[in-house]
Amino acid sequence: MSDIGDDLQLTCSFCNRGSDEVNSLIAGQDVYICDYCIADAQVILDDSETSQPKVKSPRKAKRKTPKRLLLPKQIKKKLDEYVIGQEDAKKSLAVAVYNHYKRIESDQFVTDYHDVEIEKSNVLLLGPSGTGKTLLARTLARILNVPFSISDATALTEAGYVGEDVETILSNLLSAAEFEVQDAERGIIFIDEVDKIARKSHNASITRDVSGEGVQQALLKVLEGTVAGVPPKGGRKHPEQSLVNIDTRGILFICGGAFEGLSEIIARRLNVNHIGFTSNPEQKVTNHDLTIFEKVEPEDLVQYGLIPELIGRLPIASGLSPLSDDEMMQILTEPKNAIVRQFQKLFALDGVKLVYDEAALRCVVERARALGTGARGLRSVLEQSMLNIMFEIPSIKDVGVCRISEETIKQGTPPIYEKRKASA
Ligand code: ADP
Repeated sequence: MSDIGDDLQLTCSFCNRGSDEVNSLIAGQDVYICDYCIADAQVILDDSETSQPKVKSPRKAKRKTPKRLLLPKQIKKKLDEYVIGQEDAKKSLAVAVYNHYKRIESDQFVTDYHDVEIEKSNVLLLGPSGTGKTLLARTLARILNVPFSISDATALTEAGYVGEDVETILSNLLSAAEFEVQDAERGIIFIDEVDKIARKSHNASITRDVSGEGVQQALLKVLEGTVAGVPPKGGRKHPEQSLVNIDTRGILFICGGAFEGLSEIIARRLNVNHIGFTSNPEQKVTNHDLTIFEKVEPEDLVQYGLIPELIGRLPIASGLSPLSDDEMMQILTEPKNAIVRQFQKLFALDGVKLVYDEAALRCVVERARALGTGARGLRSVLEQSMLNIMFEIPSIKDVGVCRISEETIKQGTPPIYEKRKASA
């Protein structure tokens, strides 16, 4: 879990403003308060001196002023620190998240009633494996400081028995929220591999794929907002334990999937639509078009095998593109927690400066690409190449610089070591 954001900037525990948005941030034990909230608190105190003593808290004041939510641009800027490329997805998520939390705030604190249904704007992220879907969701949760959990839609299919198991998604979130129901009710759940629960045949009358459709139906309920009885420890193993009620209306669901084969469906639709408008074969859309997922329409997803009701509950669909070589290079070195930086830090702790030749990094990218797992392969390739070096280096005396060349990655040739300069 520590792969992102341990170095995320500090935020006020009351209003969530980042340290770059305030004049001062005062630290307590595991909490921070900014000058804005101190001022608010002062107003509340002054107020209670002059009128009837009331129990108020800065937290209450906070809820009345939704302006303190991070703005979409601020959310996107923070995402940029961790996620390379995927501009469209970042923008859609930033807006979706902003709107989502604004709705929750206004529902609770402006109307003060729960009879106003919040139209949820859950998000569907489509894109090949290892392009940043999970990373986006996880980073968002970190930025917003809300509980976050990941569940796999395929696990629900395998269980076969529809209805109960969907609640395990919620119990995962509840445990991520350390069993604070109120916190869980504002959390983010990432459901991976939703494409795998698509109906195998889109012609339901021929083959009724009950398992896929059944799980979709069950998911639909939690996605649209319901009060679900959740076993606090998950699963059916403890039937005797009492259930905890969780209202899912404030939970943001981000569903992800690779949707293999969807690009053909989109391309076919686009090309059919083009007939009559153009006979130019140059304008034919191919399923290899890297941005094809950005052109997805609900009808494509229906054809893929998702039920229309579920698609309706995932109104924001955003496509992630396969990562280019340059983006893969950037992923290696640029994000705050970039893999190369992590190794450099590790070596620096031993007083060694770790340097990679550009050709070495290009070679890492090339080998990772061959694995076909997107950016996920970068770490495994690099770990593998560095293993021997990390084994040897602590026993070599006075190493000041360790330079990794292309040959080190390609053939496992030892790196170039430079002696530490004697201190004057
Ligand atoms: P998936 O799209 O399959 O959910 P992940 O988000 O889990 O992929 O990506 C796997 C790993 O690859 C991440 O933990 C991160 O290290 C890296 N990664 C993938 N995409 C990006 C990206 N766009 N920017 C930065 N790192 C990325």
